[in-house]
Amino acid sequence: MKGGTPEPDRPLRIAAIDVVPVRLPLREPFVIAYASYADVLSVLVRVRTEDGAEGWGEATPDPNVTGETWPSAAAMLRDDLAPALLGHDARDRFGTMSRLDAVVEGAPAAKAALDIALHDLVARSLAVPLWVLLGGCSKAALEISRVVSLGTPEAMADAARGHVADGFSTVKLKVGDATAPLLDAARVVAVRAAVGPEIGIKVDANQGWKASGTAVRAIQAMSESQPAYVEQPVAAWDLEGLADVRRQTGATIMVDEGCHGARDLLRVVALRAADLVNIKLMKTGGIGPALRLNAIAEAAGIGAQVGTMVESSIASAAGLHVAIALANVATVEMGGPLMLAEDIGELATGYHGNQVLLPDGVGLGVQPDISTVRRFATSWHEVRRD
Ligand SMILES: [Mg+2]
Repeated sequence: MKGGTPEPDRPLRIAAIDVVPVRLPLREPFVIAYASYADVLSVLVRVRTEDGAEGWGEATPDPNVTGETWPSAAAMLRDDLAPALLGHDARDRFGTMSRLDAVVEGAPAAKAALDIALHDLVARSLAVPLWVLLGGCSKAALEISRVVSLGTPEAMADAARGHVADGFSTVKLKVGDATAPLLDAARVVAVRAAVGPEIGIKVDANQGWKASGTAVRAIQAMSESQPAYVEQPVAAWDLEGLADVRRQTGATIMVDEGCHGARDLLRVVALRAADLVNIKLMKTGGIGPALRLNAIAEAAGIGAQVGTMVESSIASAAGLHVAIALANVATVEMGGPLMLAEDIGELATGYHGNQVLLPDGVGLGVQPDISTVRRFATSWHEVRRD
């Protein structure tokens, strides 16, 4: 880059990649059907070029969803994936990323970290916000909902009331107890009673009801509370069961853990198993695969949400850029920055009531402060050619 002028014709040859596992403290533990978390365990990557350009990415692996643990994602990034990108031109971000599929099958969160970093790097080198690269600005604003952890009906009703008092018009309830599906229904009914008829209620069972019969019982018992949709009622592998639940209850069904990428969604479409899909960069393997997944959803008349693991400002910003760019994306769930006691970016300042603003600036619009990253880093590994 000369005098600050971007030069799109100049290669962005990848010279080094930093792999940095970080542990970020949550304000309060996050509880869902299959796990409870006290911290966010994340792996940051910084991709650097020969010219000193850089881009940041993040992996937040979820062992129950992506099959990756925090240490395994960090090790795979360090030993297998990052080395495979060295010397390649970051401008060919889809081609460069597709090489990683020949190195390792799966590992979507680890791959997402590198994919996000390449997108950040290329957008920065062109001096544009990332959404410009992804298709432009399809909507004026993004509305977010707040998540209520699994708890007693009373505790969940209190939490939901608090979020509504903070200006949120939609709450998302974490349920999914296969041993007591009617208690799950009672949770939803209690929240409806607490927040009144105008507030949107989303229900996420996180596979917790497991079998379609249990899910049907729970959903029928909560139908008076009119959830906007019911997410992942049955086990991730059971797309036929998901289709059964949709047919038997008439509820609007969102597939989440059951759909990682484009090939899963082709089956969802064939089985008519869902009305909505929750796209998460950590499931798809990054932004490129998320665009492919969304294209199939849009063609099939399936609406999309951009969701998230509990992520720092880096991966959360990536999700927001995707959401603002894609017309088929109606809702987003990017609560991570609000749930963190300390973050490595400033995305939380863009949250105002139920709206979230994209950060200003080029690329992701997030510039991590190195001293902050070091403070939360449990190790730091620089991958470069010897
Ligand atoms: Mg979900």
